[in-house]
Order: sequence, then structure tokens, then C-alpha cells
Amino acid sequence: MKIKIYYERCNLCKECINKCPFGAIEIKENRIVINDNCTLCGLCIKICPQKAIEKEKEEIKEIDLSEYKGIWFFVETKNGEIASVSYEMLTASKKLKKKLNEEICGICFGKNLKDKVNGLIKRGANKIYLIEDDIFCEFKEEIYAKSLAYLIEKYKPNIVLAAATMLGRSFIPSVAVKVKTGLTADCTDIDIDEKAGLLIQTRPTFGGNLMAKIICERHRPQMATIRPKIFDPANEEENINGEIIEEKINFKIDDKINICGKEKIENIVDLQEAEIIVSGGRGLKEGKNFEIIQELANLLGGAVGASRAAVDSGWIEYPHQVGQTGKTVKPKIYIACGISGAIQHLAGMQTSDYIIAINKDPDAPIFKVANLGVVGDLFEVLPILIKKIKEQGGK
Ligand SMILES: Cc1cc2nc3c(=O)[nH]c(=O)nc-3n(C[C@H](O)[C@H](O)[C@H](O)COP(=O)(O)OP(=O)(O)OC[C@H]3O[C@@H](n4cnc5c(N)ncnc54)[C@H](O)[C@@H]3O)c2cc1C
Repeated sequence: MKIKIYYERCNLCKECINKCPFGAIEIKENRIVINDNCTLCGLCIKICPQKAIEKEKEEIKEIDLSEYKGIWFFVETKNGEIASVSYEMLTASKKLKKKLNEEICGICFGKNLKDKVNGLIKRGANKIYLIEDDIFCEFKEEIYAKSLAYLIEKYKPNIVLAAATMLGRSFIPSVAVKVKTGLTADCTDIDIDEKAGLLIQTRPTFGGNLMAKIICERHRPQMATIRPKIFDPANEEENINGEIIEEKINFKIDDKINICGKEKIENIVDLQEAEIIVSGGRGLKEGKNFEIIQELANLLGGAVGASRAAVDSGWIEYPHQVGQTGKTVKPKIYIACGISGAIQHLAGMQTSDYIIAINKDPDAPIFKVANLGVVGDLFEVLPILIKKIKEQGGK
């Protein structure tokens, strides 16, 4: 959508200039001009006394859907290595391939990655489109978005998947805008409607009260970001062949972001990467009792999780919430302290490798998923556990 000015109607009354909240309208060479500050809020259209400003609707081009083929997934890297979440996206792509029978292609940007992307081919990717350039050594949204949009326009994939990580969440929406398609963010499942051949994208909505199934009928590619830890990482397969296609940036990089300095963010909550999570719930009674959860997590080199009841009580911030409306986690060890095990909490942690539950109610549902259950008061059990770990030389 664009803003169109009908100069023959405009009498330069300046009403729009005075009222625009973004300072996006100015006069140049005796004409009203909209500058880059415009957010398309439409206020100027409503208030112009001469009706000289209108929205110009862009024509939606009908596209030939049959031209779009292939299941793509974005390959994230971390410190120069393929991030584990990329293998999860490969598993998601393989699930779709079973019903769609289109080739799986990974898209990777970075430096010195040729050997490393081979691991994706061994696990079932048919092709990897690789752009190696110094420009990708630092994540810049605009550059990543432009590069992926360029490849999409060149090769026309049917489906593009990416992980709903900080990186995926930040640049994938811009890609969808650039290639003029829809995007379902933060999916908890994906599948193929075999009759229509469409991607079914499932995600919680209305605060997790409904699971919406979303399709993208008329635009391509069909794009979705998927929560980490929903799919297991893909395993190596036998007799697998694939190819790496090296691409180059042959378009102008017009980077509007200039990084002036960097500061390390301490205490970032990376629950989805943590191998051990110690979680607290309403059984903690009050916020300051999260200190004991934090102490145990520190001793084990793990992260702190929480139930929604604890988050809603204001005892701990939302990024720690595990469950249907929080994070999906799959650590090696999940220790639930004073958490009843409501279905919405289990939805985010029940695939953890080993679950330990501490709860004073022997009938608490958490014990149904726990590998080890301790029926007892957490304020008695945790100090003993902490003491024992310290005796054995915990951190
Ligand atoms: C749409 C929707 C989405 C939701 N999303 C989420 C979500 O993402 N994550 C989530 O966690 N919940 C979610 N919920 C809320 C969920 O239904 C539960 O209300 C919530 O998980 C309960 O948290 P809790 O287990 O900490 O509290 P409670 O259910 O109150 O359980 C507290 C437990 O602590 C035990 N306890 C008490 N004192 C002690 C003690 N001294 N020692 C040991 N044990 C003790 C009790 O026996 C009890 O089992 C959602 C609900 C809805 C409707």
C-alpha cells in the first residue's frame, strides 16, 4: 500500500503537516511530499479537508502456484557451527516430504561452512544453497532478509521453514513482506493437507485457549517459523546424496543499520538451550523463594524455569515460563518443584529426557510424567539436595 497525493486538489493548507504524528509530511518545491518517516497510519487521509490524500492499493498479482516447488528450511549457525535447531528444522521438512514428495533444501549464510553443511546432506537434505560472505559474520536483519528473499525469488520454493528463535523471529517476517506472502509465526506443529497439497500451520491463539490451523492458499512460498524443541534433530541416513549450490550476493546491500558498539547482555534466559532446568511453581509460596531454585540451577549449571502460576503471580518474568503459552523445552534433566503438572505445563516439558518432580501431594499429575518422584515439602527436600551437591563438589 502507498499514499497518493492528488496535487490538483491540494491547496497547501498544511493541516496534514501539522497533525502528522511522525513528521512524515513536508513541503518541497511548493508541493506536499511524504518522507521516509511515514508509517501508513492513514491519519492524513482522514483529516485532509480537500480529500487530496488517498491510499493507493497495490494490485495483487495472481501467481502460478505450480511454479513453486521444494521444501526449504533456514540453516541457523552459532559461533561458526550449524545450530542444533537447524537439524530440528530438517526433521520438520522431512515430515512434509513424506506427503508432498518435493526436495528438501537448506539455506545457509556465513563463512567457511562448506564442510559443515555436508552434515545436513548426510541427514537427508537434497540441496544446500550456500552464500559465503564476510558480510554474514555479524547478524544484520536487513542483509539476511534481502539475501533470503533474493533466493526465494530466484528459485521459487513452495514452503519456507525457519526456527522461531531470536534470529528467526527477527528477520523472517521481513522476508515474508519482501516476497509478498503470509507467515505463521511460532508454530507448534506443521503438516500437509494431502488433498489440497497445502501446508497446515498449527499455533496457539487467544492466550493458548485455541489451537489455530492456518493455511496460505493464494500466495507462495508458504512460510512458517517453528518453536525449537518441537521436532527432534534429524539423524544421519545411509546412501544419501545431495549437492551444495554456491550462491553469491549480486545485489546492492543497502544496510540502514550502523552498529556503533556492542554490549554483552548478562543473564539472558536461554531455556531452550539448557541441558538442566530447575522450575518452580505456586508451591514456592512467594517470589523470593525462587532464590532456592536459582541456587540449585547454578549448582547444576542449569537454567531456571517456571509455571504460569508463578509468572502470573509476578514472582519471575515471562521468558522463564515453560508450557503451552511459554517455551517448549527438552533438557536432559527437568526438575519440577511445587508444580502440579497441569496439561498446559506438561505440553512444554514432557519430552524432557529425565523428569524429577518434588511435590507434597502424592496425587499431583506431574508424577505421571516423572521418572523420579519425591513426595515431600520442597522447603525440606531442596536444602538437603543442595547440601549433598555441594558436598560432592557442585559449582
Ligand atoms: C490457555 C491456558 C494456557 C496455559 N499455559 C500455561 C503454560 O504455558 N505454562 C504453565 O505452567 N501453565 C499454563 N497454564 C496454567 C495451568 O493450567 C496451571 O494453572 C498452572 O500450570 C499451575 O501452575 P502450578 O503447577 O505452579 O500451580 P498449582 O497448580 O497451584 O500447583 C502447585 C503445586 O505445588 C504443590 N505444593 C504446594 N506447596 C508445596 C511444598 N511446600 N512443597 C512441594 N510441593 C508443594 C501443590 O501440591 C501443587 O501440586 C495455562 C492455562 C490456560 C487456561
